Amino acid sequence: MSLDNQPTYSGGCQCGAVRFHIEGALGDPSICHCRMCQKASGNFYMPLVSVGNARLNWTRAEPARYQSSNLVQRGFCPKCGTPLTYEAPDGVALAIGAFDHPEEIAPVVQWGMEGKLPYIEDVLKRPGYRSDQDRDAEHFINRIVSFQHPDFDTESWPAEQKK
Ligand SMILES: [Zn+2]
Ligand SMILES: [Zn+2]
Repeated sequence: MSLDNQPTYSGGCQCGAVRFHIEGALGDPSICHCRMCQKASGNFYMPLVSVGNARLNWTRAEPARYQSSNLVQRGFCPKCGTPLTYEAPDGVALAIGAFDHPEEIAPVVQWGMEGKLPYIEDVLKRPGYRSDQDRDAEHFINRIVSFQHPDFDTESWPAEQKK
């Protein structure tokens, strides 16, 4: 709970072993197209928001870290591998997709434009379908049981598995 009306945020990795809590205003949200961010996220670009002067607490395990250059470490969950942080001498940034409410954190700037993939502008114009519109996957989707941590803090995790 905040004493002085500070915004708060929470989030964590896919499995829930690593969870974070933030109190205070975040810095500018961005995406970075650079080749190192592509590799670190396994993705077209990496969405990051700087923690800035907000207070960041790891409320379960801390991330494991990979030293990706002499100056930067990349944090990730040692259990499930979710990319979580970019840690440079001037501060820490968190992966926007790991927040419990990523819809609240819209990127306002792009970095690393030299690495921007040539098809990025066109990807979101491609045909799109909801998961439940994929008829071929219906049998699979009906049987699936998610082990993903929910988008809120829990007393304990993993939840009791039903046999
Ligand atoms: Zn995890
Ligand atoms: Zn980058």
